[in-house]
Amino acid sequence: MIDGRVVSPSTGATLPVEDPATGEIFAQIPAGSPEDIDRAVRAARASFTAGTWSRADPAHRGRVLWAFARAIRDEAEALAWLETRDSGKPIAEARADIVGTAEILEYYAGLASQVFGQTTRVPGNSFATVIREPAGVVGQITPWNFPLYVGAWKFAPALCSGCSVVLKPSELTSLTMLAAAELALAAGVPPGVFNVVCGTGAEAGAPLAEHRDVDVLAFTGGAVTGRKVLHARADRLRPTQLELGGKSPNIVFDDADLERASAGAAFGIFYNQGENCNAGSRLLVQAGIYERFVARLVERAQAIRVLPPLDERSQMGALISAAHLRKVAGYVDVGILEGATLLCGGPPPAEGHFTRGHWYLPTVLADVKPEHRVFQEEIFGPVVTVTKFTEDDEAIALANATEFGLAAGAWTSSVQRALRCSQELQSGYVWINNYNPTPVEVPFGGVKSSGFGRDCGPQAVDTYTTWKTVLWALSPFDDWYKQ
Ligand code: NAD
Repeated sequence: MIDGRVVSPSTGATLPVEDPATGEIFAQIPAGSPEDIDRAVRAARASFTAGTWSRADPAHRGRVLWAFARAIRDEAEALAWLETRDSGKPIAEARADIVGTAEILEYYAGLASQVFGQTTRVPGNSFATVIREPAGVVGQITPWNFPLYVGAWKFAPALCSGCSVVLKPSELTSLTMLAAAELALAAGVPPGVFNVVCGTGAEAGAPLAEHRDVDVLAFTGGAVTGRKVLHARADRLRPTQLELGGKSPNIVFDDADLERASAGAAFGIFYNQGENCNAGSRLLVQAGIYERFVARLVERAQAIRVLPPLDERSQMGALISAAHLRKVAGYVDVGILEGATLLCGGPPPAEGHFTRGHWYLPTVLADVKPEHRVFQEEIFGPVVTVTKFTEDDEAIALANATEFGLAAGAWTSSVQRALRCSQELQSGYVWINNYNPTPVEVPFGGVKSSGFGRDCGPQAVDTYTTWKTVLWALSPFDDWYKQ
């Protein structure tokens, strides 16, 4: 979608779209090239300069974003179906993604006319107005795990701020983003303001990150790619926002409500097949409750219905690709070699719906030590590691003992423990007696190697606006050189 039109890629090439649950190729998407990225950036620049969106009344932008949200709600069932076929996630979870996308747009529709500047008196009998301006042409590169929802974390605040966008979705899951771009156009987003270019990381992602005329680049994906993007942006000396991976700790203290904590632990890791940047993938469990807690967790993991994702009863679907399945299974093998104990899960039996597509069962690895790779590295699948601790200090130290800092959870009935965790966990997000919700009203993002900048909340607008200071003399200009 370039300049308000669905266009063919310059090379004419396409990429196959696979249903992860069956392995069936059911669609083709355009394979965008550096030339297509350039066309889209030029269209975005032209629309930004023309001012059809960048200088429109903020209230008008809000109304259009609201209409866009309405269109997403009207098409919710079709979009959820498309998301499930494209990503392999259960239909119930795809529906939650689509409703969440509408909520993100509604929030930024409301915020559009609330992006205020500042005014202040300054010394020298001057007066300052500090204006917020849209940052310009924004490049956005998004992952495959929450294709439309995490994409909306990027495009909604950018559009709210008055920017023109070129978005490159993951080549594994581009369908709902293409559909959304058409809905945006029909809702009144002017041509050239919201461009979507499909393609691989090498052929479309890298040219977008390297492009000379992209004012801000916002990226969500893995740390390895994030580093490449940041190198490219360093050469251009332009701002970049990075939302990267995680290895989030979920701490269960001995005074926690074990029923709720085990439910939260299971939901924290197994939602979206564990393909979740903030997955609670490292459980830290206090010694006094360890055996009871782990037994309950295993019961819960084994009860999850791993079914074809379009089946209404499905609670876990298929992993995104054969390569990703190999990676996840490989990590479990490494964990066992390193000394972890496999309590449940692993590959499913080769029968029924498991004979096609990319399946892995909810997996619990116990006796995991901080030096194990499965404790340190992001697996991005339905695999949770369990590590025992005794003292509270030890829990905090273990929680902070990886390079990541995206999210964390703590389960306790003690206000003191909860408060201590909220203060001492090195993380952009902390859930207390809770796990996974990411309401759009509050910022989401990481510290350490999990990235910088924030999606969601009013903070996301910071990425997509710049400050301009205007200093007004309140008295006649004093000649510095006067004789
Ligand atoms: P990825 O890094 O492989 O790909 C992300 C995007 O970058 C894709 O669109 C891809 O095509 C593109 N890309 C690949 N190479 C590129 C290059 N050289 N230059 C520019 N773009 C390039 O990540 P993924 O496998 O799609 O997603 C999984 C990762 O995303 C995980 O690490 C997960 O934790 C992370 N994630 C983070 C958040 C967050 O908000 N922090 C949310 C979702 C996913």
